[in-house]
Amino acid sequence: MSHTITVAGVDVDTRHWIGGARVASARTFTDVSPIDSSILGEIARGTAVEAAAAVNAARDAFPAWAAVSRAERSRLLHAVADGVERRLEELAIVETTDNGALLRSHRRGVMPRVAHNFRFFADRLLELEHGDFGTRGHTQHVSWDPAGPCVLITPWNAPLMLATWKAAPALAAGNTVVLKPAEWSPLTASLLADIAAEAGLPAGVLNVVQGYGHEIGDVLTSHPDVRRISFTGSVPTARRITASAAANLTPLSLELGGKSPLLVFADADLDLAVDLAVEQYDNAGQVCLAATRLLVEETVAEEFTRRFTTKAARLVQGDPRDEGTDIGPVIHPRQLERIDGFVHRAIAAGARAVVGGHRGDGQHYAPTLLTDVTQDSEIVQEEVFGPVLTLQTFADEEEAVRLANDTRFGLAATVATGDPGRAERVTAQLVAGTVWVNCFFVRDLRAPFGGSRLSGVGREGGTWSFDFYCDLKNTVTAPSGWRSHG
Ligand code: NAD
Repeated sequence: MSHTITVAGVDVDTRHWIGGARVASARTFTDVSPIDSSILGEIARGTAVEAAAAVNAARDAFPAWAAVSRAERSRLLHAVADGVERRLEELAIVETTDNGALLRSHRRGVMPRVAHNFRFFADRLLELEHGDFGTRGHTQHVSWDPAGPCVLITPWNAPLMLATWKAAPALAAGNTVVLKPAEWSPLTASLLADIAAEAGLPAGVLNVVQGYGHEIGDVLTSHPDVRRISFTGSVPTARRITASAAANLTPLSLELGGKSPLLVFADADLDLAVDLAVEQYDNAGQVCLAATRLLVEETVAEEFTRRFTTKAARLVQGDPRDEGTDIGPVIHPRQLERIDGFVHRAIAAGARAVVGGHRGDGQHYAPTLLTDVTQDSEIVQEEVFGPVLTLQTFADEEEAVRLANDTRFGLAATVATGDPGRAERVTAQLVAGTVWVNCFFVRDLRAPFGGSRLSGVGREGGTWSFDFYCDLKNTVTAPSGWRSHG
């Protein structure tokens, strides 16, 4: 049986990558393209045996990798970035075929960012400060020691971007990695294994295990040799991982869901606010940061809705490989079902669909805007993870902040206002890991990223990534000839 499939002209190995070798499993799972429901191939369905083998490979490779100089680690990570850039077109088309997100954004935004993930942390590693200082003649030396094997578990909505956002700092820190990509979009992780090997990353430093989270997750997250777990995904899975990691008190970084607000004040540039709102349909709404709750000041709500409706009507749903397409399909029939369920229940509860409110062709869901929703309703409180927004109005600043914060999540918030004083007052009160004012999705790898409340635990990005992936050690050395008194 061949273990290579050809996806949009690109060869992809369907096996795991463990200890520098391709490893098959007895069983497979079927990978289907959301674009046309075509079968892309049969992917290795990992079991406890392969999961444990991957952790063992990471454990065995760790001492040698941890001992590699920072300069050499940095050089190797830049070589991985070079490989990503060389294969950018291939990565982009394979990712689009696998998860249905727009080819143009994979080409121009996502895959360049994947390369940048490696370059940024390769450079940042060299700038980490040891913070040496003296205490009564003694030297205090702070070192960023590698922690050990890291398990990285990622979702399907931005597969390679999220995998490398974790893998790059973990590897830069001198750790080894076991990456478990989502079963709905497993392919680019396999290409990353090829790229890392070509770049010269030693065997066992980066391992990839394919398969279902509920079948192999526990083995990975309860393994006593795993020193860090970084997870991006849903809240229910985070709860299971946390319980499993409790056995060894393995440190966790959790990047979870959201129900973020976009606050539109009457003093805002209304066209800008509408643009920001319509942007929330990107990636068919399957974006953790998406501001899915539009909160609009009463006095401009009618005009905002009119302009929003006009603009949303111009969005082109279609094949994500076409340049002219704005919204592609959702990832999976089950996700489509889930989205439709949310919308039906909301409408049954009294909501009104002023835009969309139904399925589109194939695996598409029509961009949807629901009004007449109540704050405590499911559609306002639960993450849909599809192209579905709600619109509520507020009378004043105090009510806007109250509605914005009245959620179990706290990932992001966006504020549209023309008044800098208001921006300052409102942003200070919002509970969110990231707040944007008159903009959206402007990211910088130097900044901390993560969520409050159910949106996550911990922060990654910049030095915060190294905080998580390193064991910080303080070594105190006495001056020569020093004697303890007493
Ligand atoms: P999910 O939780 O279903 O799956 C995520 C990953 O966890 C997959 O690889 C899956 O195989 C694995 N998994 C499942 N069960 C497991 C278990 N018991 N042990 C270990 N791993 C297990 O999430 P999803 O549906 O793939 O992704 C969508 C969710 O991800 C949304 O809630 C979204 O908001 C969130 N997300 C968050 C961010 C962020 O940065 N905060 C970014 C993207 C997506």
